[in-house]
Amino acid sequence: MSFQDFGLIDAVERGVQSMGYVDPTPIQLRAIPLILSGRDVMGSAQTGTGKTAAFALPVLSLLKSHGACRCLVLEPTRELAAQVETAFRDYSRYMDLQVALIQGGVGFGKQREDIKAGADILVATPGRLLDLMEQGDISLKDIQYLILDEVDRMLDMGFLPQVRRIVEKCPKARQTMFFSATLPPEIQTMTQWVLKNPEVIEIGANRSPAETVTHALYPVAKDQKFDLLIALLERTKFESCIIFTSTKIFADKIAHRLHDLKHAVVALHSNRTQRERVEALEGFKSGKYEVLVATDIAARGLDIAGVSHVINYDVPGHPEDYVHRIGRTGRAQKIGDAFTLVTAEEIDAIRSIERFIGAAIPRLKLENFPYVYTALFNESQIAPGGVGKGVRTLKGYSFGARRRR
Ligand code: AMP
Repeated sequence: MSFQDFGLIDAVERGVQSMGYVDPTPIQLRAIPLILSGRDVMGSAQTGTGKTAAFALPVLSLLKSHGACRCLVLEPTRELAAQVETAFRDYSRYMDLQVALIQGGVGFGKQREDIKAGADILVATPGRLLDLMEQGDISLKDIQYLILDEVDRMLDMGFLPQVRRIVEKCPKARQTMFFSATLPPEIQTMTQWVLKNPEVIEIGANRSPAETVTHALYPVAKDQKFDLLIALLERTKFESCIIFTSTKIFADKIAHRLHDLKHAVVALHSNRTQRERVEALEGFKSGKYEVLVATDIAARGLDIAGVSHVINYDVPGHPEDYVHRIGRTGRAQKIGDAFTLVTAEEIDAIRSIERFIGAAIPRLKLENFPYVYTALFNESQIAPGGVGKGVRTLKGYSFGARRRR
């Protein structure tokens, strides 16, 4: 099945062509016909699967041409909102539709102007949207298509009450598309009142990391974590690397230390101003920075081409965040490597991750690194499920060669 077989309107088909997409991805194959037929959809899919086009293309086709403000997309972070807005603009380049980005951290002026000028589609983060609704700048009375994206991340960020208030202001007669990687009880309750007889789309096991990512654990003593990070960076032929940390303070610290070591590095986390966040992301995408040190704000859904490596400086507390973090590499069929530094304190979190993804992650040791002893090296049964044959040693230099690019 090709994009021509969906019955999308011509202008949308041309938009897809200009993006260079040839074959629809599995989630697009499932979601596009359902959305075009008017069904509510509840979907989970791995990141990097083409989820945005899966909802944007049919909605654009249904919107057809300029009119009232009929489509609202809610996103948990400003970065994701900006990315989805760009996708809508790209796909609708041969249409006369107007797209407005409504997000916090920047002035109200341009957003008010965009709304007044007549936006067909709003791509918004919840807080700023509510502000503008309360000030009378935005009405949701004409919304026909409501897209709630990354709902579990909205839950994590404490946005569910705001999302509820926003949904309550949308007309009951609407089509709703709901995407969430996981379905904790709060979200299950929400699906019941937000969606009408939804079709459930689950693409692949959303628990498994993308097949294009090779991942490995590097056991290390706590005091040597930073040195091992430096050694890994030195010996890895990376094109671009995201380092994830659990806290903003660590992200800043590591960025500073890497900067002192002459790496082109930038930090991305929610304590940075909106201008700094945009500059960080743009600079990383353009190649100005080779290393991005980020908290989980960057882990979900951000589509950054050509990230060759992801390094988890610490083990994420939620197993699903592991899948999201390492999903920043190996996107759109490219090959990527993901390394996780692990100390003895973090081994329980690793075991939860291995249970969650249903596989053991190989343990590796960097050759010629002056390791001090850690009990983790003795774990012969280190990985449940059998891959664990103790810790293997890998020559650092082979990382680049190992990549199948
Ligand atoms: P998403 O999962 O929506 O963030 O999309 C991940 C990446 O895949 C983006 O760079 C999209 O432009 C790209 N993409 C989406 N659909 C297709 C397709 N059918 N063929 C090739 N690339 C695609």
